Amino acid sequence: MKEVVVLGAGYAGLKTVVLLQKKIKDNVHIILVDRNDYHFEATDLHEVAAGTQTPSRISYPISDVVKPNITTFIQDEVVGVDTANKTVKLAKHAELLHYDYCVVGLGFVSESFGISGVDENAFPMTDVDEAKTIYNHIIAKMQDYQQSKNPDDLHIIICGGGFTGIELAGALVDARPSYAKIAGVDPSEIKITLIEASTRLLPMFSEKLADYGVNLVKKLGVQLFDGSRISRIEPGKVYYKHGDDTEEQTQSAGTIIWTTGVSGNPLMAEAGFKERRGRVMVTDHLNDPDHDDVYILGDVAAVMPPDGKRPYPTTAQIALAMADFTAEDIASRIKTGKRKAKAFTYKSLGTVASVGNTRGFGEAMGHEIKGYTASAMKKIIADRSLMETGGVKELLSKGRFDLYH
Ligand SMILES: Cc1cc2nc3c(=O)[nH]c(=O)nc-3n(C[C@H](O)[C@H](O)[C@H](O)COP(=O)(O)OP(=O)(O)OC[C@H]3O[C@@H](n4cnc5c(N)ncnc54)[C@H](O)[C@@H]3O)c2cc1C
Repeated sequence: MKEVVVLGAGYAGLKTVVLLQKKIKDNVHIILVDRNDYHFEATDLHEVAAGTQTPSRISYPISDVVKPNITTFIQDEVVGVDTANKTVKLAKHAELLHYDYCVVGLGFVSESFGISGVDENAFPMTDVDEAKTIYNHIIAKMQDYQQSKNPDDLHIIICGGGFTGIELAGALVDARPSYAKIAGVDPSEIKITLIEASTRLLPMFSEKLADYGVNLVKKLGVQLFDGSRISRIEPGKVYYKHGDDTEEQTQSAGTIIWTTGVSGNPLMAEAGFKERRGRVMVTDHLNDPDHDDVYILGDVAAVMPPDGKRPYPTTAQIALAMADFTAEDIASRIKTGKRKAKAFTYKSLGTVASVGNTRGFGEAMGHEIKGYTASAMKKIIADRSLMETGGVKELLSKGRFDLYH
């Protein structure tokens, strides 16, 4: 009997388990560990933060997809991986977990780049609880405004105008009328500001398409300060320097959200993997270079494309592709003693950014798409991933065939 221990029930970890359960019926026991008892679609967190989606629409119970005759799910915090002794340590579970194969898919954390005051004064948005906290805070600020009449209560600053920041701005635009109703003001009084260090936003898109996206957000009333490096954050205040200016400027707001970037889980460093910013440069079979029984997937992995210039961007799409490969490789090793002959290869199907519920822009299968088409494509991509891991049951229960919601 081979023991496969999968750490993290995100895109990479959960899909590996679902596929392994289909591929091997005997001689395997899988242990899946996650701190939550539900899987969530991180790609929709901005909508929960804005309040345009409920948490239940972007998550489902892990027990819905785990087959108890093959897989044991443990809800706990992973605190260590000992690759020499092939064990995993959990926070509450008294016994160490022993593995023949370990799949690490522990995902991303918010990166503050050492900027003073970020952790204390800005909200990160990396999981469902953090997204809910942001939404509850925005609503509380709108309620405060009824008494305070302080315009800062109506002001939301997004620090970081990358893909996530732009998507969040779009969702906040959609939610503006509902915030305004609570505060008792006109929607135009709800101010949304993006502060971004770069002057060339969204480098994953062509300059023309990126300009389209940025202009769309601006047209919707989002104020953009690009070329503005954030120097520190104090309670209710973001300080930044524009271009080569040495003098700091400041913006004040009741809500400050941090979306400047993410790094891989810090546990990778703590567990002794050779990592950079929480990411391990994996082999062509997605293994840790020093341990071929350890697979490292998703946002904790760095995968070099054939041109070898810089690793692929970390996305849900590549995390799912890595899960496909890993499940096949492990199944082959268990069944035949031999691994999948071919190395992992990846071809992106494209990238689409949403700007609220019915607008978007991006590139899919070599074509640039904009507007409602892009928005619908984004939903189709998300539904496909939900279907592949959660199955028809989850897709139907979320009512996600409706591309307008
Ligand atoms: C707002 C937003 C929009 C995005 N949009 C897109 C998009 O349009 N397209 C795209 O492809 N990608 C997008 N991404 C990126 C994508 O979400 C990530 O690349 C993807 O989630 C990585 O998948 P993963 O399986 O590596 O990790 P995750 O999905 O982050 O899963 C990690 C899992 O590990 C668990 N975990 C972490 N630490 C521990 C621990 N110590 N103990 C136990 N459990 C733990 C977590 O609970 C979680 O379930 C977006 C991200 C954000 C935040």
